[in-house]
Parts: sequence; structure tokens; C-alpha cells
Amino acid sequence: MTKKVLKFGGTSVGSIQRIVHAAKIVKKEHDSGNKIIVVVSAMAGTTNNLVAYSQSISKKFNKRELDVLLTSGEQVTSALMAGALNDLGIKAKSWMNWQIPILTEGDHTNARIINMNVEGINNYLSEGGVAVIPGFQGVSKSGDITSIGRGGSDATAVVIAKIFQTDSCELYKDVDGVYSSDPNKIPVAKKIDKISYEEMLELSSLGTKVMQASAVQTAMMNDVPIQVKSTFAERKGTEINSQENIDYSKAVTGVAYSKDDAKITLIGVEDKPGVAADIFEPLSKNEINVDMVIQNISADGKKTDLTFTIKRQDKNAASSLLKGNKKITYETMQMNDKVSKVSIVGAGMVATPGVTYKMFRSLAEEKINILAISTSEIKVSVIIDEESSIQAVKKLHKTFNLD
Ligand code: ASP
Ligand code: MG
Repeated sequence: MTKKVLKFGGTSVGSIQRIVHAAKIVKKEHDSGNKIIVVVSAMAGTTNNLVAYSQSISKKFNKRELDVLLTSGEQVTSALMAGALNDLGIKAKSWMNWQIPILTEGDHTNARIINMNVEGINNYLSEGGVAVIPGFQGVSKSGDITSIGRGGSDATAVVIAKIFQTDSCELYKDVDGVYSSDPNKIPVAKKIDKISYEEMLELSSLGTKVMQASAVQTAMMNDVPIQVKSTFAERKGTEINSQENIDYSKAVTGVAYSKDDAKITLIGVEDKPGVAADIFEPLSKNEINVDMVIQNISADGKKTDLTFTIKRQDKNAASSLLKGNKKITYETMQMNDKVSKVSIVGAGMVATPGVTYKMFRSLAEEKINILAISTSEIKVSVIIDEESSIQAVKKLHKTFNLD
């Protein structure tokens, strides 16, 4: 007998009709003799609405109470899912985070699941029941309700697959898998059959919205293979797995882009130990995430230029922190907030020479100027003008035979 985790995202449980539809998928799997644990998100839009309620009371809404509030969305869908299954003649029951319990560690709104009690649920599964569990939440050692970060119900599903040692972890979504690029913008984008954890992690961090990066990381750390599937179409999805299980015929698996970046250049920064730390410390203390950093080699050994990118929403905060930073001196600050980051990702890159060069050459052919570059083993990212981003993605998609 196969034990499975079936997780349904917000859109997949976004209306009563959809919950009933999802319940029918569960029924089918259950009828085939599988033991099923269902994990649900809140109905699409619910968590955002709850955030908005809290913000209309206070921008500094108490975080403990915020967790009580936000996790309620999944309580609603858990009960509706279990009820829908009952209505289809299936034995099913919902468990709240504290009833299991799902034990978490860490701060409110950003906790991590560290353990779960499996006994009660395993017994229930053995009696032929379907267990329905709310994603995105848990309870702390002190008994407070916690949430594990927006989009966290994927991570819940992965952890459950690990702890309950299930044979599969299937994430049902409103897309039918992971694509070589954003299919809404790049119509020739193709569904990827198999992708490694590492590549998926890069794609998620680079803005591919299919799966939250920390869920991919959890899957990678625990080697929990994942299947991304469509709730609405019966098609083969994407399998996320370890690299050994993947055949690489292509150097590049996907092209990602984000368009909400800003680039800051400090010209004439002193070139001495500690300067970079002094520049970035206040940014990090204020939770401004710095992405790419490029420091020029100084010609005279005295002054240098430092360029880095941040999220566009942080640009004003970053600029005032830099201006108010007494520890550093520079001649001028330049800001370009109309940039985007375009990246190629592929585990096959390691074994294919000339990928970086090919990327630069194709951008040159499109007369697209590269403003900054960063690379890792399986990724090359460039910062370019925002208006050229789709053109660049299309070109790279073609260059690397992904069309
Ligand atoms: N409902 C939560 C959110 O929207 C968790 C999730 O859907 O994964 O962030
Ligand atoms: Mg959601």
C-alpha cells in the first residue's frame, strides 16, 4: 500500500466548487487503495485579506495574534475538505496544528516545523481514514500558534512527507508544472518533466512562483522528491528530484527573470578593509536584502566603485541609510530603479563549456547592455534595463534550445 501526501494550494481550494473538485481527486487516490494525508492552503486571497485586517488595526500588529489570525484560513479549508470527503462517502477528519501537534521553533510569522506526532494520524490512516492537515502552521513549545512564512504550506507538505515517510509528496496547483520560463510571458515556454532540487531552488529564489524557495530547500535537505501537478488538468506534471535521477541533455533548464530590482552604485568608495562591511551592515540590520554585489578593482589602490542590487521596494530606505551612514565616505551615489535580473539556470551547465559566453553573445546580438553579472555553479544572472527583459528572456530561451 502506498502512502501519499496530496497538497492543494490556495487556488485549488479557492471556492466551494474547487474544494469539492479537489476532494474528488483525493477520493480517486483513496479508492485506488492509497493511504492519504491531505494538506491544504487557505482559500486564494484569504491570507492576504487577513493581513489587511491586521494592518488596518495597526502596522505593528502583535505578531502572536497575527499568527492566530493568519492560520485561521487553513482551518477553514481543512474542515471544508474533510466535510467534502465525508460527503463523497469517505472517512476523513481534520486535525488542527495543536491537536497533532505540529511542533515549531522560531519567531512568530517565521517559525519552522521541527517535529510532529505521527501516532494518531497513522492509526487513523490504518483504519482507512483520510487525514486532513492545515498547511503553513504549527504550535510552539510554549503552546502558542505559529505560522511558518507566506506560501509555507508547500513546506508543511514536504515535512509531512519526511516525517510520515510517505512514498510521494504531490503538490496540486493551478499550473501543471514548472516551466522553462514564465508561460504567460513566453508562450513557447515548455513544461519541464524533471528538475533537480538545486535548479528549482535557484528558479524559486529568482522569482519563479511555482514553489516557495524554503519548501524546495526543505525537500533538498531531506531528499523528499516532489511532484508538481495541476488540479484542473490531468497531465503529467514536473518531478523535482535529486540530480542523480536526472539526465542532462541540455546545459540550461530554465530562464527566469525578476523585474522589481534596483541597482545602486557608490562611486569613489575608500578601498580599505571593513568598508564593504560598513556599507552593508545597516542594510542588513534593516532587513534590506542585497542580491548581487560587484566591486571594481581600484586602479590607484585608494578608491573604488561598488555596485549592488536590491528589491525596488527597498530603494528609498537603502538610499537614506547610505546617506546617513557616518562610517563610510563616497563621492556620489547612482541609482537605477528600472532594472531587471535575467538568469539562466541549469545543472547541465557544469559539464558544458561556453554557456556564459553564449549568453553574453546572444544579449549582444539583441543590443542589450549588461549592467552587472553574477554566477554560481548552475546559474548565470545579468542585470539589464527593465524594458529589455522580455526580449532577453525570449532570446535566451531560443539560444539554449528551450523553445
Ligand atoms: N495561506 C498561506 C499564504 O497564502 C500559506 C500558503 O498558501 O502556502 O501564504
Ligand atoms: Mg497561498
